[in-house]
Amino acid sequence: MANIKKNDTVVVLTGKDRGKTGKVLLVFPKEEKIIVEGINFAKKHMRKRREDEQGGIIHKEAAIHFSNLAIFCKGCNRPTKIGFNALKDGTKTRYCKRCKEAF
Ligand SMILES: [Zn+2]
Repeated sequence: MANIKKNDTVVVLTGKDRGKTGKVLLVFPKEEKIIVEGINFAKKHMRKRREDEQGGIIHKEAAIHFSNLAIFCKGCNRPTKIGFNALKDGTKTRYCKRCKEAF
């Protein structure tokens, strides 16, 4: 879960959007779910609350469980696994396990 962060590019592994890539917009660590730009659009019925409001159906990205996503490495041009390097000050950096490119 900690592998994926906001603004990462991820690829969808399962479901109707399988193979698509998108940018991470939001991460919900507790639910282990992620919202990806342009992925997993869900129809939502909106009730009109005021006369000047638009009711009807809107399309919005729905959250996806993180296990259905993988980090997309631009260097390898494919989904990849992330490794961690621990620095002396305790911070961690991420890198692609395939091409060793840092994220
Ligand atoms: Zn790579």
